[in-house]
Amino acid sequence: MEYESVIGLEIHSELSTKTKIFCSCTNEFGGDVNTHCCPICTGMPGTLPSMNKKVVEYAVKAGLAMNCEISLFSKQDRKNYFYPDLPKAYQISQYDLPLCKNGYLDIEVNGETKRIGITRIHIEEDAGKLLHNAWGTGSLVDMNRCGVPLIEIVTEPDMRSSEEAKALLEKIRTILRYIEVSDCKMQEGSLRCDVNVSIMPKGSKEFGQRTEMKNISSFSGTGRAIEYEIKRQIEVTEAGGKVNQETRRWDDDKGESIVMRTKENAQDYRYFPEPDLVLIVLTNEYIEEIKNNLPELPDKKKARYLAEYGLSDYDATLLVNTKELAKFFEATVELGATPKAVSNWILGDISKVMNEKDITIDEVGITPKELSDLINEIEKGNISNTAGKTVFEELLNSNKNVAEIIAEKGLVQVNDESEIADMVNRVLALNEKSIADYKKGKTNALGFLVGQVMKESKGKANPQIINKLVREKLEEA
Ligand code: ADP
Ligand code: MG
Ligand code: ZN
Repeated sequence: MEYESVIGLEIHSELSTKTKIFCSCTNEFGGDVNTHCCPICTGMPGTLPSMNKKVVEYAVKAGLAMNCEISLFSKQDRKNYFYPDLPKAYQISQYDLPLCKNGYLDIEVNGETKRIGITRIHIEEDAGKLLHNAWGTGSLVDMNRCGVPLIEIVTEPDMRSSEEAKALLEKIRTILRYIEVSDCKMQEGSLRCDVNVSIMPKGSKEFGQRTEMKNISSFSGTGRAIEYEIKRQIEVTEAGGKVNQETRRWDDDKGESIVMRTKENAQDYRYFPEPDLVLIVLTNEYIEEIKNNLPELPDKKKARYLAEYGLSDYDATLLVNTKELAKFFEATVELGATPKAVSNWILGDISKVMNEKDITIDEVGITPKELSDLINEIEKGNISNTAGKTVFEELLNSNKNVAEIIAEKGLVQVNDESEIADMVNRVLALNEKSIADYKKGKTNALGFLVGQVMKESKGKANPQIINKLVREKLEEA
């Protein structure tokens, strides 16, 4: 039997507001344990929450960027459950009236575009963290994360492979970073992804029983967790068993998941409207204002790069996927450099440095102005491509500008035909055998001779002129 997998994601992202969702504690990541808290976020009896307006604004931004309808009225609810990192024994979340719903995002996998439904985006508070202490005597609770604002993005079960799920997760991360509502660091937990997976006979219309997997902390881990679960469910089914509705915990080191709990139902949480908070009431003007202030989003940016700059689909995708690369690219192009050349430098030499040192483009040590100058010098024929690489290296390691480096290192390209002709003559005089080879049809002798002239010029002669002159002389010889 052939199977098809069905995948839906539940993505939590911590919003990067200055303060927490219901109190004025700092929302900074880290800090000494229990230093970012107050009576409200530690759930002391008698305290009252009040909504941080920025949280609503950030969530609306996310909703609009993911093509959602924004609710003019939405409500907050208590989701009741007990866990030591949840001091109130309930989480304030949104149940039946979420802030955003019915959106979609387009992903591209294997050159095909597919639309994935976004069921809803709601706001809620994060819980604390348990620290299992080194003395082995028990666990301690760090409440710094209690009350950190989150959005939960729930997708439709529209994905059919781990590639599609990863593409969607990446799309969501890119967008949240573009609109600057979250830094989306999976390692720090500011982006978390739970995956729902089921299988069904290929071509079937009826979905199978799903399981949910938690504790996934990287993009590649998401893919591995899904692949594992698909395989596990197929094995269970083939052995005549049934897939149980359950929540499983992914262990990326072991590459396997184990049952955490058999799946709870919504009624187990005893959701009810949060009595200490008012409804969230928005106006169309408010939503319109946020919409008008959204930055250009990656899909639109990519379409513009293709149309305006003639970049390849592949290059445009790579550039827009990282906001900082796109920004650097645009700043350099604005200074007059040829878009294609800028793209090549960013995706080539600059990305290489970024990968080697694991740094961002802003840390590489080259500015858009320097890159633009460098490209101009090459395109004007003042320096060769090879010399360009030398200038690039030097830009990274010094505070000198492009003109200074070219002058200091004597990299100015020789474009003077008569000067190059002299060099060609000298080289040909020393290489009669190669000339004879060329005459016999060994065309790679040409390349050899061009290389010798380049060497004679210490890498400075214009390669096109060398090529032309060597050809001419060989024809004459
Ligand atoms: P719950 O509230 O119990 O978590 P939801 O209906 O909200 O249930 O679904 C949660 C997630 O599970 C969504 O991302 C949805 O797309 C996904 N999902 C629902 N049914 C299936 C299924 N049969 N297979 C895979 N994923 C599913
Ligand atoms: Mg759920
Ligand atoms: Zn607080």
